[in-house]
Amino acid sequence: DSKRRIRNGRQEFTPELAQSQQNRLRMETHLRRAADNDEFRLVYQPQVDLRQGTIVAAEALIRWQNHQLGEMRPDHFIGHAENTGDIVRIGRWVLREACRQAAEWRDAGLGIIRVAVNVSYRQFLVEDLADTIRKALDEHGLPGSALELEFTERVLIEDAPDTLRTFAILREMGVILTIDDFGEGYSALNYLRRLPIHGLKLSQLFVEGVPDNHSDVAVCQAVAGIARSLGLGLVAEGIESEAQRRFMLELGVPVGQGFLFAPGLPPEEFARRLRGTS
Ligand code: C2E
Ligand code: MG
Ligand code: MG
Ligand code: MG
Repeated sequence: DSKRRIRNGRQEFTPELAQSQQNRLRMETHLRRAADNDEFRLVYQPQVDLRQGTIVAAEALIRWQNHQLGEMRPDHFIGHAENTGDIVRIGRWVLREACRQAAEWRDAGLGIIRVAVNVSYRQFLVEDLADTIRKALDEHGLPGSALELEFTERVLIEDAPDTLRTFAILREMGVILTIDDFGEGYSALNYLRRLPIHGLKLSQLFVEGVPDNHSDVAVCQAVAGIARSLGLGLVAEGIESEAQRRFMLELGVPVGQGFLFAPGLPPEEFARRLRGTS
């Protein structure tokens, strides 16, 4: 918290600090009740084959609409939910809802579309994640391969005792495992060899700068090289322009995601795109 100042080892109490603490408490109070009050929904952003333009998967992104706070972006509340621990309950809702949606699309004759769900490091720390996921899949008779989990390098930093075992069980179930925002964190390349993961998502932080920014180009090339030599899949996030799409294709990146194709869409809209009728 940039507004916090430390004096003599204690936090100095400023009006801004009081205000920001009040805002935080207010948000956390609402956040605690949000799941029960049905305030969350998921939108789905297509992952697109960069050559064909076809949809290969859907990333589920949470949205929170609160009558007092308005529409809150995940970047504003996920961190709080992680600190309070509420993310565990929220994350369980997200997993179940994403599976329910995948089953609904399947039952509507759209085939099994893989849904990618963002999973917080806290979910690895405090619950039997593999068990939660197995139940969510079984509830709707979905195969593990209908689900992809996106987690950040934070999961690996926290290094919960069971993380590697959880990965192994999930992989055995057929669940696709992907490191999100790759390149933003503390990418100790050492762990990439030991982890039973399937792919990486190249952070939009670097995609943003291509094809003009030389250092962003260099990072994208390096990540593509790592993915290729380790036999991992690669998805480029945050593709907004045709130039970026072409750059990724030339780099050999097969799949992309971004506003050039679509933002997160309500499920009906996503289904229309799947049918090719919009
Ligand atoms: P993320 O998983 O890296 O998701 C990508 C974010 O980039 C999404 O923001 C998406 O709307 C945005 N985005 C997609 N394409 C573009 C583009 O072309 N340009 C730009 N500028 N942005 C693009 P969103 O939905 O606000 O989510 C932000 C972050 O919040 C996510 O980053 C993820 O880390 C987290 N998050 C979202 N939903 C969940 C969830 O259900 N559980 C957890 N634990 N975290 C979530
Ligand atoms: Mg993600
Ligand atoms: Mg990401
Ligand atoms: Mg992100």
